[in-house]
Amino acid sequence: MSTFKAIVVEKAEARQTVRLTDFDDNDLMDGDVTVRVEWSTVNYKDGLAVTGKAPVVRRFPMIAGIDLAGTVESSSHADWKAGDKVILNGWGLGETHFGAYAQRARVKGDWLVRLPAGLSARQAMAIGTAGYTAMLAVMALERLGITPGRGPLIVTGAAGGVGSVAVAVLARLGYSVIASTGRPAEAAYLKGLGASEVIERKELAAAPRPLAKERWAGGIDVVGSTTLANVLSMTRYGGAVAACGLAGGMDLPGSVAPFILRGVSLLGVDSVMCPLALRQQAWSRLAAELDTGKIAAMTTEIGLADVIEAGRRIVEGQVRGRIVVKIG
Ligand code: NDP
Repeated sequence: MSTFKAIVVEKAEARQTVRLTDFDDNDLMDGDVTVRVEWSTVNYKDGLAVTGKAPVVRRFPMIAGIDLAGTVESSSHADWKAGDKVILNGWGLGETHFGAYAQRARVKGDWLVRLPAGLSARQAMAIGTAGYTAMLAVMALERLGITPGRGPLIVTGAAGGVGSVAVAVLARLGYSVIASTGRPAEAAYLKGLGASEVIERKELAAAPRPLAKERWAGGIDVVGSTTLANVLSMTRYGGAVAACGLAGGMDLPGSVAPFILRGVSLLGVDSVMCPLALRQQAWSRLAAELDTGKIAAMTTEIGLADVIEAGRRIVEGQVRGRIVVKIG
């Protein structure tokens, strides 16, 4: 019998607890590929999972962690063999299937994406679900014809994980990026990632009007609620906004006016059940189009023992950019 270190979420008498503990190999869930986990990350959703602030974990006990990068140890899946370098995001990892904050994971081979050439496992987790979601949002805007020539794009929650990668990717693709943040002290950081303008989040916090002055061709929103309603009301005729987050709330207190009077589109982005072909495309574009210097500039490294505290900080909006977790 062998054991490994893992962050395990448990529930007793309706109360959720979390701890770093030893986990028995024999207790891993079914899967056709066993992965030695080398790197993980802390996303907002991981913060919700370890703090129990939202019902992310839906099976107890659960090894938390929605993102991993590592090396295949053994496989009975036709596509994978020992030694392959892989990434896994979503598909219920850390929610319904034992997750990434562990030295070993047993998963379905159908969920895995090959680590793209040019990215290390550490860089892949510096991008993580947050960065891959930012790329899915960029691709959604491109499909609607939102090219750099259409005008500036706004990114909300810009100093967070999705926001930081979105700013860097959009700027690299030639878009003029307006970064919205509640942390004006991060203006230099955001300009370093490529933002051409930084605005304060309070500009998007007032009660939304059905239509407001047109300010941008579209954007990427991670905040939801009043912020998203304001972003939509300020979007130019024919523009589009990709919505991928709820850091400010799950409601949407706006009107249909931007849709029916300005032809604005609201694009939903989901990373968890996203089809494999789109995932592979997003990851190969991130490898090719995201400046590795920018990834390094937005990344802080922690160990497995620091994850629970980092999870608390991310749900309080205190984390800048991305966190990578060295496992093992
Ligand atoms: P982070 O915590 O890193 O970033 C969120 C940012 O939002 C914060 O840094 C802050 O940015 C801003 N923010 C936080 N709270 C508020 C608030 N109350 N009002 C306004 N702005 C706020 O999280 P991630 O980047 O990892 O995730 C962002 C969101 O995207 C989350 O809601 C997450 O669940 C969601 N998400 C969804 C995915 C999907 O598949 N659809 C995948 C990945 C993430 P600043 O300080 O700059 O204002």
